[in-house]
Amino acid sequence: MKSRYDAIVIGAGHNGLVAAAYLARAGRKVLVLERRPLVGGCVVTEETWPGFRVSTASYVNSLFRPEIIRDLDLARHGFAMIPRSPSSFTPLPDGRSLLMGPDKALTHREVAKFSTRDADSLPRFEAMLERIAAFIEPTLVETPPDPWSWSPRNLTRLAKLAWQFRGLGADARAAVEILTGAANPILDRWFESEALKTTLSTDAIIGAFATPSMPGTAYVLFHHVMGECDGVRGVWGYVRGGMGALSEAIAAAARERGAEIEVNAAVARILVEGGRAAGVVLANGDEVRAPRVVSNLDAQQTFLRLMDAADLPPAFLESVTHLDYASASCKINLALSEAPAFTCLPGRGVGPQHHGTIHICPDRTYIERAYDCAKYGFISEHPVIEATMPSALDDTLAPRGQHVMSMFTQYFPYQLAAAAGTLEDNKRRYAERCIDIMTDYAPNFRRSVLGYQVLSPADLESTFGLTGGNIMQGTMSLSSLSFMRPLPGYADYRTPVAGLYLCGAATHPGGGVMGACGYNAAREILADA
Ligand SMILES: Cc1cc2nc3c(=O)[nH]c(=O)nc-3n(C[C@H](O)[C@H](O)[C@H](O)COP(=O)(O)OP(=O)(O)OC[C@H]3O[C@@H](n4cnc5c(N)ncnc54)[C@H](O)[C@@H]3O)c2cc1C
Repeated sequence: MKSRYDAIVIGAGHNGLVAAAYLARAGRKVLVLERRPLVGGCVVTEETWPGFRVSTASYVNSLFRPEIIRDLDLARHGFAMIPRSPSSFTPLPDGRSLLMGPDKALTHREVAKFSTRDADSLPRFEAMLERIAAFIEPTLVETPPDPWSWSPRNLTRLAKLAWQFRGLGADARAAVEILTGAANPILDRWFESEALKTTLSTDAIIGAFATPSMPGTAYVLFHHVMGECDGVRGVWGYVRGGMGALSEAIAAAARERGAEIEVNAAVARILVEGGRAAGVVLANGDEVRAPRVVSNLDAQQTFLRLMDAADLPPAFLESVTHLDYASASCKINLALSEAPAFTCLPGRGVGPQHHGTIHICPDRTYIERAYDCAKYGFISEHPVIEATMPSALDDTLAPRGQHVMSMFTQYFPYQLAAAAGTLEDNKRRYAERCIDIMTDYAPNFRRSVLGYQVLSPADLESTFGLTGGNIMQGTMSLSSLSFMRPLPGYADYRTPVAGLYLCGAATHPGGGVMGACGYNAAREILADA
């Protein structure tokens, strides 16, 4: 029987949608099957309470690739960014505070309150990161070279990479340290003020079950400085209408080119016939056939849950089983009757302190202590909180004068210790703790909370299909990056089964709202076709 489709994409995460849009743009007949009732995966806006529209999972954007925005004409499909200035605000227990952002004069003034030396060093630090970013960024939209392959195409790619690395000159050592090292020693070398180092270091632990003193966190820090907002580099912004507006725009671009997208359509099994992908079976028993199947799911979901072990090489399966999904991120979404009035920057209503990410973390020892609890299977006594209130800049998200807030918090271990109590009890205690901590800095906060939703790692797994609740579809440590993501020998979006591909954050260049995984996967699929 001839299939109606050239390719089936499992999952309408933003990467699955990007892959589908590029395949459709190349004239392929594509069907996207999404388990949830809406498209976007971790890039969604949901009306969690009447009138309050929340970016349920991801909440800020900078990494999404500008070439995809242009190619798919996403602005015409409703995608718009709202830059944030200032982009960060750190209230401190001693009543001081630190605002930073794209406004260089403001940042210099603010950092100088703590250290004039740091205020002068910061632009040089950022320039160093930018030079390294200029080396790494082009690799994001390229298929990683395979160091074990002698094919001429691959050797050319390796040579190009080596040449680019050579171009780093004196920055080469810093680049290697950023790729492999811990964030703390780098920050300690550059700066003296704890307020600045703490604010910067919280970006080094986002989504990682680690502290900034641990190797691998420098890359997470760096991952957060790549990207741009409306052409301004290193700036994070809000998507107007919430993150879901980006997914809706990609979906509209894909549909315009003929892709079909079905929601409430969970895939139960990937069909393999004669060693080739042949289609999928849905949870309702329907079978849809296609010569190419593209999975937006992480590696364990794809290979261990949707496939028969007999269809995969045992050694490959064994490696998939040992992939690292450690995570301790917990997202708390809140509806607020008014903006938090911070003691250190008093005033009613919305001010610059509400525009960007509000860092609740007094110093780096606080991060280590928060981690220590989770290391033994308990929720942090004092969680690290990065809060954003996008309704300060976007009037489409909440009733007038009221607000939505995202709290990205750490650490809430996926595996709770037996003595820790039930998941539900821990979720409630953890959320109450986060509300108490925010109230310490903004006394009106607790009474402003109209409702909250807690997404523990277990909830992130059950809601979005993220194994272990890992927000990046797998740890972003050096041993899981580039030609080793998801596994050595399989970083080119292909799998041991002909016609079966991965296109999600499980692949190079990894997690984050980049679209690069889907973009690269589509290129490889089209090359095979
Ligand atoms: C809480 C949280 C906060 C984050 N914050 C940010 C942020 O602010 N900025 C940023 O850049 N990144 C952030 N990230 C990371 C980023 O959102 C993800 O790495 C990225 O969105 C992953 O996209 P994806 O398309 O690869 O996969 P996913 O978004 O994981 O999409 C996979 C899709 O597959 C679907 N699916 C699963 N199983 C099936 C099945 N059997 N059949 C059919 N469909 C199925 C899922 O429902 C989902 O829609 C955050 C992630 C989380 C969870």
